[in-house]
Amino acid sequence: MTSGAKKLICAAAMMACAGPVSAETSHAHWSYDGDHGPSRWAELEASYSSCAGSEQSPIDLNGQAIPAAVHAPAVYWKEADVTSVTNNGHTFQVDLSDAGKIVIDDVPYHFLQFHFHSGSEHTFHGRRFPLEVHLVHQSADGRLAVIGVMFAQGEHNPLLDDLINVMPGAPGSLSPIMKVNLNDFLPGDWSAYRYEGSLTTPPCSEIVAWTVFEKPLSASADQFAVFETLFPHSYRPVQPQNRRFVLKTD
Ligand SMILES: [Zn+2]
Repeated sequence: MTSGAKKLICAAAMMACAGPVSAETSHAHWSYDGDHGPSRWAELEASYSSCAGSEQSPIDLNGQAIPAAVHAPAVYWKEADVTSVTNNGHTFQVDLSDAGKIVIDDVPYHFLQFHFHSGSEHTFHGRRFPLEVHLVHQSADGRLAVIGVMFAQGEHNPLLDDLINVMPGAPGSLSPIMKVNLNDFLPGDWSAYRYEGSLTTPPCSEIVAWTVFEKPLSASADQFAVFETLFPHSYRPVQPQNRRFVLKTD
């Protein structure tokens, strides 16, 4: 892979692209608190200026959505081999071989990777869930479609257990022999919000068609504790909706 291609994928994959993944970049260090925290991201370097943009993510989903305005994405996922699991210092990310695609408004977006935020990024009437997974897809022209699914405290989640078992405890990557079926991340109820937004980490590019499912999956308190210990409060605060519409599926 050329370094140019690697940079593109790193940006698209919302990874820090540092440490174990690539030593080539010299992007400013960012974090979820302190001097390099979210309120400072736009100032850290010129390429992060979008972090001060007007169509940023995440947002609070607060009942202002327009009902029955859109369809949920059409999903064509299949069980796939895990190619790598990565602790990049900000999140736990899983890359798969060929996991399929989703289609939104006739545009196909192929699956890239999924990762987690400890403390959900999207909130519902101000309520934050313990965990949110982001399923990241990319179209041929480089735009992204991300599906966000919440986890609420309840029954133990078998899929999360499989992933926790291979999660690197320190920054680095592993290539475990295992398969994941993304359909296991779908709640039974497909009610969802859709809106146009951004990456939730620097460079905060405003290139993301967001779909956030309303109904959460369940996981147990001890499972949440694993994520919170390794990636404490790894969420960006909600951003102003500004002039954007939030649409609700029919
Ligand atoms: Zn994310």
